[in-house]
Amino acid sequence: MRLGLAANRLHHLGEEAALFRWLRACEAGIRELDLHLHAVGRTCDAIVAAGMLPGYGGLRRYPYGREGGLMNLVAEVVGLGEPQRTLDGAIYLIDPVDPSSTFPEAVALKRQCVIHGKPFITTVAGARDWIEVARIQAGYAPDPGADSLHAFELQTIALIAHDAMKPQMLAYAAEHFDLLSRFARRVATGTTGQRLNEMAWSRGWPQEQTWAHRYESGPMGGDAQIADLVLERRCQRAIFFEDPHVARQHEADIQLLERAVTTVTDDAVCVTSPAVAQHWAMAAMARVRRKN
Ligand code: PGA
Repeated sequence: MRLGLAANRLHHLGEEAALFRWLRACEAGIRELDLHLHAVGRTCDAIVAAGMLPGYGGLRRYPYGREGGLMNLVAEVVGLGEPQRTLDGAIYLIDPVDPSSTFPEAVALKRQCVIHGKPFITTVAGARDWIEVARIQAGYAPDPGADSLHAFELQTIALIAHDAMKPQMLAYAAEHFDLLSRFARRVATGTTGQRLNEMAWSRGWPQEQTWAHRYESGPMGGDAQIADLVLERRCQRAIFFEDPHVARQHEADIQLLERAVTTVTDDAVCVTSPAVAQHWAMAAMARVRRKN
């Protein structure tokens, strides 16, 4: 597996920075999986300077951002023919007040990951979670270090889908109803939530209870309301089926929610496409079974 890797300056500044917290937590998993990291210049230099991943052959250096390193990653998410130049996703640890996180190449990196159904991982929690998902899928035993990330009965999950993606969200929630029902609480934007509740009631969920607590509809501010929960650490996961093929009137709200997740980088995970959500659900359920 090959992942692009970039971290905004804050996240590789000093020993306790987000990038190093992730590498310390996941070094064993990275080596087990032989995960190749295609890292843009400054991020790669910081890993080497910090003495992380000693002797690891899977770290590959790309040019600095100003020389096109992040742009290279975008093209490789799309794919450039040879396996060496095709990425399976990207980890981009975002500091939401770093202006470079809003550059077109950063926006395009996310968009192409969503379009190609590849993970776009923006937080330490998301990067830790993805390594555990990949480990479980490869048949490794659950890492006890990931137990708190998988303590779903203590977590709230947000479920949001743009109009064209709502049928997929409903199918996804029906397929993984037991897993999603393990969460302490489910929240959703207005219309998505209504459809999800109807699905849950049709499956026998008590009629007097909602399965997902509904906030406003997305364009009316539901994303912003859910972002506030994330910022207060009262929502740890978001599954957001975005439609990347249309102009969205509430684009700013969508970005706001995704950037709220990055402000609590150790505590929140956002998944932005059905393919990635499917991998997560399969691995999460397999992990539950292996733990019992
Ligand atoms: P909705 O909002 O669930 O109310 O449709 C989703 C969105 O468009 O962000």
